[in-house]
Amino acid sequence: MTIATETNSSATVELFKKYVIPNYNRYPVNLVRGEGSWVWDSEGHRYLDLFPGWGCNLLGHCPPAVVQAVQDQVATLIHVPNTWHMDVQGRWAQLLSEHSFGGQAFFCNSGTEANEAAIKLARLHATKGRYKIITFEGGFHGRTLGSLTATAQPKYHEGLGPLVAGFTYAPYGDLAAVEKLIDDETCAIMIEPIQGEGGVRIPQADFLPGLRRLADQHGLLLIFDEVQTGCGRTGHWFGYQYFGVTPDVMTLAKALCGGIAGGAMLARREVAASLRPGMHAATFGGNPIAARAGIATLETIAHDNLLDSAQQLDKLFRRRLESLRANCELVRDVRVAGVMIGVELTLDGAPVVKKCLERRLLINCTHGTVIRLLPAMNLTTEQAEEGCDILIQAIQESAGG
Ligand SMILES: *Cc1c(COP(=O)(O)O)cnc(C)c1O
Repeated sequence: MTIATETNSSATVELFKKYVIPNYNRYPVNLVRGEGSWVWDSEGHRYLDLFPGWGCNLLGHCPPAVVQAVQDQVATLIHVPNTWHMDVQGRWAQLLSEHSFGGQAFFCNSGTEANEAAIKLARLHATKGRYKIITFEGGFHGRTLGSLTATAQPKYHEGLGPLVAGFTYAPYGDLAAVEKLIDDETCAIMIEPIQGEGGVRIPQADFLPGLRRLADQHGLLLIFDEVQTGCGRTGHWFGYQYFGVTPDVMTLAKALCGGIAGGAMLARREVAASLRPGMHAATFGGNPIAARAGIATLETIAHDNLLDSAQQLDKLFRRRLESLRANCELVRDVRVAGVMIGVELTLDGAPVVKKCLERRLLINCTHGTVIRLLPAMNLTTEQAEEGCDILIQAIQESAGG
């Protein structure tokens, strides 16, 4: 049997039609190569990518330090199980701990797995009879059944019941509602410090401190799902630092390994102690390749001052998009936290995404009306201005009909 090596977009679309389960809406474009914030299709067209890797490629496509680390590691040791020690996993955990609140790490391969670990840890750590977890409307925590139940969005639950027992939902931003939901069986509050999929929703300044206070009063764990806000996205190492509110447990994935699959849960040492041998596992979790990629990602962010770059990009996007809002009634709100950017429109955002794709700019629309950008921290000023030019024009043209 031969597999075609020359690819083109229409042949690839045909392959997918025949052999790949159609559980994603895909653009009819076959991407073959990437470098920084540029990506190319099989016809040789170049695109400016302001949504690289759905938030995973926080250092852009093929960051050289990650490429080098993975190439080196793959020729040295690809995988050994977690019955052995491996220095790279240990050093990775140390770096994450030192850049955050000093906890210990459990490694897995994705965001939903990191959240499953946090859900299990919350129940294992709780005193007898406590098992309920409060999560938030519009949140997103992943697609496996525990994380899916934590995801308080009915559209993702359709047809999948019965779900996991023990989750209760509060409106995002509503402290009084959270307080009402807490009872003798509650063990944790789990939240994204900024809702990503839910439309880049940034909470009011008193909300996360209020949750911290409630958690402390009632002996609950505060779990931050930082799968999207983590690893520099907000211009701080982690989203919790952006708000100055420290959780007990934090989950990471997406950008954690600079585009290589990887996930992690960090927990305060006293909490982590509740996870003992045999209670949880992930076969590929913390494997040497992910570990090397994870270390290279953190080192690149530090070495290249990318937290500063993200803060500069924050200002640039804020300036451009706020001035659009002032002049365009289609723009309802602009929300920016580092390189996490939402533009809420008064109408469906899908046609704007399509217009941008025609002009070779890759963006995303979430929650129907929110244009979402998750650009790389090392996006250049020229690329950012060019992306804003195209996006702003696409939005303004939508006003014309
Ligand atoms: C993407 C995402 C997840 C799920 O991550 P997967 O790696 O797709 O399982 C969970 N939480 C948040 C906040 C996310 O953005």
